[in-house]
Amino acid sequence: MAATPRGTSPVPPDARPRLTVLSGPSGVGKSTVVAHMRKEHPEVWLSVSATTRKPRPGEKHGVQYFFVSDEEFDKLIANGELLEWAEFAGNRYGTPRRAVLDRLEAGEPVLLEIDLQGARQVKESMADAQLVFLAPPSWEELVRRLTGRGTESAEVIERRLAAARIELAAEAEFDTTLVNTSVEAVAVELLALMEIL
Ligand code: 5GP
Repeated sequence: MAATPRGTSPVPPDARPRLTVLSGPSGVGKSTVVAHMRKEHPEVWLSVSATTRKPRPGEKHGVQYFFVSDEEFDKLIANGELLEWAEFAGNRYGTPRRAVLDRLEAGEPVLLEIDLQGARQVKESMADAQLVFLAPPSWEELVRRLTGRGTESAEVIERRLAAARIELAAEAEFDTTLVNTSVEAVAVELLALMEIL
């Protein structure tokens, strides 16, 4: 099944590459879509965020994230080095500003995969950014993905579902919605929105 773009805004043919922000509720599959897209198109530049989260097994500094201490993150904020930042599940995450601006100035499309709070901040500071919302095929499917691991308590699951309900309501703030019916289809739609295909 194809991904369904809703409300895609027309892009003038002479538009310079824009910043594209992929966001959506947690559990919807953003990182899976981005990983698939980059496997097929390694030339697409994805911003590497700074985070105070500890690396997971296999994650490398400078590849998935720049892993920094709380003090280093404080400094990045104080020096204005982050385009946006947010706290998510007890850790801080932020987009280094300079690298993004350098790529855009060089005429290359840029992709950010960030949470909803970050997407809102980007829209405020860069009005021409293109905000893409990744939506689950249905509420039931999101519930299945969020509860799928079967390791969390009923209380934790309830909290995550309540958060997901609020997150889904943010769709209206975005320029375009892609429905995650298939990872391959969404990756193709995203490349088209970034004018790479
Ligand atoms: P994870 O810890 O699973 O790698 O990421 C947790 C969440 O943080 C995901 O929703 C991801 O999109 C978000 N995230 C990753 N980098 C950034 C960032 O630079 N800024 C913001 N606002 N969110 C981020």
